[in-house]
Amino acid sequence: MDFQEIINRIYNEVKPMTVYGKIADYIPALQQVSSGHLGISIQTLDKKSYCKGDCNIPFSIQSISKVFGLTLAYSKLGSKLWDRMGKEPSGTSFNSLVQLEHEQGIPRNPFINAGALVVSDIILSHCNDPYSELIDFVREVCNDPNVNYNDSVAASEKETGDRNYALAYFMKSYGNIKNPVEDVLSFYFKQCSIEMDCRNLARSFLYLVNHGTNPFIGKNILNASQTKRISALMITSGMYNEAGDFAYRVGLPGKSGVGGGIVAFIPQKLSIAVWSPALNMSGNSLAGIEVLERFTSYTGDSVF
Ligand code: GLU
Repeated sequence: MDFQEIINRIYNEVKPMTVYGKIADYIPALQQVSSGHLGISIQTLDKKSYCKGDCNIPFSIQSISKVFGLTLAYSKLGSKLWDRMGKEPSGTSFNSLVQLEHEQGIPRNPFINAGALVVSDIILSHCNDPYSELIDFVREVCNDPNVNYNDSVAASEKETGDRNYALAYFMKSYGNIKNPVEDVLSFYFKQCSIEMDCRNLARSFLYLVNHGTNPFIGKNILNASQTKRISALMITSGMYNEAGDFAYRVGLPGKSGVGGGIVAFIPQKLSIAVWSPALNMSGNSLAGIEVLERFTSYTGDSVF
């Protein structure tokens, strides 16, 4: 299969759609990006790489970072992690407070903000130097020592992050946040501020493609069963409230972020990252979903 030809064709078809949708504006720093970008990168497990469009421009990975946080916490704590959060799709918006009250401070899953805040709390409790440990982990999985946090994006989110503070205080009142809320939020905002380009992002998910082993250095991060579980959660909860539609249209485990990135993968084969900053009504990259739907349709390949 000629992946380059396929992504060239998809790029030409989808590029005109990048004028639709809306850039996230609730984090002021994200508004500085202009819409109209489209980048696509495929990385195969046998180390071939295919790129089209803006795949060398770094962008804010935002919620995609929740997969890295979860991986780190899962590798430290194992299945005890699930005492503090669930594994069900939320059916509510990613930053909803309502459900948390019904469920006594236990977030539905690790990819809604409440769940990711509990994951941040776990990382703070179990790592000596959490900021370095997380970024070193991300650098290792994407095989690029230059990937970094963006301090001004983190600061911008902190200024407007009242709802995330509310979620954390609420969970603390139920005993499900152990560290000071300020520390948990600072870490969470910093995690969300990590910047990558499409090439890095696609490479960084190869450890999930490869049953939990980083293919660049042969390091085992998760076992095959843990990898299966994270991948399954990405199918059921990786795309906010659009996970069902994404599974139906694309048929791959995926994770999106409000910076306009989406990463998805086919186990044992490849990962694909797309970036286009304008979002649809569910908060997912509008053009990004179009690209991924076309990719699995034209190749006839998905997890199903
Ligand atoms: N940092 C963002 C927030 O907490 C992440 C949201 C996202 O990408 O879904 O609101």
